[in-house]
Amino acid sequence: MKRILLLTTGGTIASRQGDQGLAPAIHSDEILRYLDHLGNGYQFAQRDLMDLDSSNIQPEEWRLIARTVYEHLADYDGIIITHGTDTMAYTASALSFMLQNLPKSVVFTGSQLPLEDPHTDALQNLYTAVSAVDEGICGVTVAFNRRIICGTRAVKVSTMGFDAFHSINAPPMAEIYADGMRVYRRSTHELDPTRPIQFDDTLESNVFLLKLIPGTRPEIFDALAAMDYKGIVLEAFGAGGLHYINRDLLDRLEMITGRGIPVVVCSQCLYERSDLSIYEVGQRLLAKGVIPGNDMTTEAAVTKLMWVLGQTRNREEIERYFRRSLAGESTV
Ligand code: ASP
Repeated sequence: MKRILLLTTGGTIASRQGDQGLAPAIHSDEILRYLDHLGNGYQFAQRDLMDLDSSNIQPEEWRLIARTVYEHLADYDGIIITHGTDTMAYTASALSFMLQNLPKSVVFTGSQLPLEDPHTDALQNLYTAVSAVDEGICGVTVAFNRRIICGTRAVKVSTMGFDAFHSINAPPMAEIYADGMRVYRRSTHELDPTRPIQFDDTLESNVFLLKLIPGTRPEIFDALAAMDYKGIVLEAFGAGGLHYINRDLLDRLEMITGRGIPVVVCSQCLYERSDLSIYEVGQRLLAKGVIPGNDMTTEAAVTKLMWVLGQTRNREEIERYFRRSLAGESTV
């Protein structure tokens, strides 16, 4: 008998049509009714945490979800969290850093159409989440469209299609086929069963994501420093380039890193890694003391920087954290 806790946070999966469009209205007891027919092999418990469109889920909510998981995980084989799809990858990633060395499944799922819609994908996604617990896949994952994705590798790629999440720069952990579930990896991280869960929900939420465009003005960095941002993730061009002719971003970046504000450089390309050593523009950037984001998704880079800044402000230590993969987020 598997014991599973269902935590709900809102999202399309729990939405009904109201006067002003879809809004969360369905609660965990109703969701569980749809899982009744799974039979006696499961004992479900439930708790409604919040009723939000995930656009409103922010670091405060991540901490509440993480703490709830931490407080209840010992009593269950796994926890399923229903969540809006729009920011699910951020929440899954944030929880992956706040809850390390997880020996059990913590699975996020949601849907593109509400649970009560005749065309819904919600049931399939809930069943996939249950299968992740069944298979004992450890760590924070996203279950969607018959696929289980490491929480730090998930990205929402479609606004309407049912194949809404892809596993970026790492194969999915498991997939459901007609002959059953094919499990490729059983843990998102290197699990040390002799150690307890490492829970730390300290986050520095003053982190800014800057996506460059040709012509971005260097003064943006002065504005970010004046706003007291404590860290920046830079989405640079291609393998990691930025302009310094006509508008010199390098000069302002040097000011930023010189002030002790860490800058993590990722690529605007969704797939494959950034590599600042290939091009002259990248090497110039590296010389300004930025931290390579390697093949991390933007969602993972932003939440990792928030979490790392919650641990330390020491430059070398921050860099050391980014050279390691803490929760499957980076190929090292
Ligand atoms: N706007 C919804 C949300 O993120 C979309 C969804 O759940 O699919 O809450």
